Amino acid sequence: MKRRDFINHIGASTLSLAVLHETFAHDDHDDDDDDRVKNAPITIPTNTGVSGRVIVVGGGMAGTTAAKYLRLWGGVDVDVTLVEPNAVYYSNIFSNMVLTGERTLSQITFNYNTLISKYGVKLETSAVTNIDPIGKNVQLDNGKTLAYDRIILAPGIDFDPLPLSGTADNQANILHAWKAGAQTTALKAQIQSMTKKDTFIMTIPPKPFRCPPGPYERACVVADYLKRVKGGGKVIILDANSGIQAQPTNFTNAFNNTYKGIITYVPGATINSIDANTGTVNTAMGSFKGKVINAIPTHKAGSLITQSGIGLANTGGGRWAGVNVLSYESTAVPNVHIIGDASSTTQPKAGHIANAEAKVCVDAIIKLFRGETVNQSPITNSSCFTPITKTTASWLSVVFRYDPATATMLPAGKGVVESNGASKDFHEDMLKWFDNLMSDTFA
Ligand SMILES: Cc1cc2nc3c(=O)[nH]c(=O)nc-3n(C[C@H](O)[C@H](O)[C@H](O)COP(=O)(O)OP(=O)(O)OC[C@H]3O[C@@H](n4cnc5c(N)ncnc54)[C@H](O)[C@@H]3O)c2cc1C
Repeated sequence: MKRRDFINHIGASTLSLAVLHETFAHDDHDDDDDDRVKNAPITIPTNTGVSGRVIVVGGGMAGTTAAKYLRLWGGVDVDVTLVEPNAVYYSNIFSNMVLTGERTLSQITFNYNTLISKYGVKLETSAVTNIDPIGKNVQLDNGKTLAYDRIILAPGIDFDPLPLSGTADNQANILHAWKAGAQTTALKAQIQSMTKKDTFIMTIPPKPFRCPPGPYERACVVADYLKRVKGGGKVIILDANSGIQAQPTNFTNAFNNTYKGIITYVPGATINSIDANTGTVNTAMGSFKGKVINAIPTHKAGSLITQSGIGLANTGGGRWAGVNVLSYESTAVPNVHIIGDASSTTQPKAGHIANAEAKVCVDAIIKLFRGETVNQSPITNSSCFTPITKTTASWLSVVFRYDPATATMLPAGKGVVESNGASKDFHEDMLKWFDNLMSDTFA
């Protein structure tokens, strides 16, 4: 697929990203012009006729977008408080490139200053510990209680424990680095300590997991690093799923050709146990030994959802939050909306679509505050760019439309489209896509 086709494919989306429309449009622009546009003062509208108190929990891809757009679209009388325990956000997107030194952690670190100064969002640097849906308030771990008219929960994911054995020190060396931050830095050090005789083992949990192409992308960039910097090495992918979960053509090509002799892909490799002392992973497909074990555990919604005690985790065997995708309101608890990875929908768990979900949710909340019916035909989209080598990337893109018959978001048009291989042009596009997505979320 060429650039123009890509834009046509994703251009069907209306409510979704301004980001997407800008992704390639910046080609002809001067960087100074871009900076002036990004830094231009924003006037929050005063005449929307909308008022209400909204608490947004979680300052990641979904929550930050929601907080910003509640003010931008809702106006000055929508009182928005973002609750997030961390002072900064480390982007998972591009964190695989930190592992191999293509980016630094500081280059993928974002803060909430603009959200406060430009959009008038209030920030509580704290975690929500309890939700009272009857009293419509939340407790924070700094002792405060905050009242809401509507609340948006975007706490991301948590993990099941891994079946680990071995000393505590050796167990602590088994990292997932699937939430960017300290583990990203630690896994980077482990990869750097490898020689061309060593093996990197990565385990992929059963779906659903965040960023369907993410683990395969990681395998590629680690293989690229070992090949370029160490002169060789092995990468074994132990996938609990029956096959590659995203961009199957591009990744099969990368594993069989670009990284022939380096990457071994093993589907159906459900993990039975991991011996951290010997670096052995025992799976349904046999036992594998490596120097570095990067084990990504089985996912579930952020613990705020599963431990709330108010029935939010009502799908997937109590692991995920069911939502009405017209508004992202919980199917269990009124006035509580769940967006991003923690919700259970037919859409992927990804940052790009979390941004789009946030906008659908915000639009619905504003309409609900006005006493109007929410949009009955929302459209969202997702794109994922994937570095395959240091200089090339591939991508996938999908547009989702609401299907009234099933009350779900279904892929529209050509469905999930993957790029025709990896290229340097796509790598350049990837850098612009990231800057636009992060600026649409945090700036
Ligand atoms: C290696 C990797 C690569 C990826 N690449 C891509 C990509 O190329 N494209 C793409 O679209 N997606 C990608 N993703 C996926 C993307 O990062 C996630 O899907 C996205 O971050 C989900 O957004 P979220 O807001 O739901 O969760 P998060 O971004 O994880 O944010 C959750 C936030 O909630 C906060 N929180 C949790 N509990 C509480 C509480 N009780 N109180 C207050 N705050 C709380 C957390 O501190 C966190 O800041 C990638 C992921 C990984 C791991």
